[in-house]
Amino acid sequence: MTKLLLEDRGDVLAVRCPFCESTALHHDEVTVFERSEVAPVKLRVDIRGVDAEPIGGELRTRFPSLHVDEYMGGNPSDRHSGVRIGMWCAGCDKRSVFMIAQHAGQTLLSCGKVLPWVQVPQLREVP
Ligand SMILES: [Zn+2]
Repeated sequence: MTKLLLEDRGDVLAVRCPFCESTALHHDEVTVFERSEVAPVKLRVDIRGVDAEPIGGELRTRFPSLHVDEYMGGNPSDRHSGVRIGMWCAGCDKRSVFMIAQHAGQTLLSCGKVLPWVQVPQLREVP
C-alpha cells in the first residue's frame, strides 16, 4: 500500500498515479468483494473493461468480461467488504489500484502499486 494522492479540483478529486503523480489514470478493472462476519456467503464480482492493459510497454486491447465467484484474494478489507479499481497510467504505463475497504464501521480509501500485473486465478464467467 502507498499513500493515496489526490488533486483537489473543487467539486471533484482526481486520483494521482502512485508512481509518477500524473492524473492520467485509466481504470479498466473493477472488483467488488462482498462478505460479512455474520453471513457464510462470500461473493466476488470482477469486471474487466475494453481499455488497454500495458504489458512490457505495449498496449493490449481486450474484450470486456464479467466473472463471479467466492474468491476473496485481493480484498482490501480483512474481514468485510471491499472494492478494487485497477488502473493504468498514460503518463508512465505502470499499473496501480485504488481501493475502498470497510473496516470497523469506517470506509477507508487507499492506493497501491501493482507490478507486475498479476492475473487473479479461479475466475468463472457468468453466462
Ligand atoms: Zn504514472
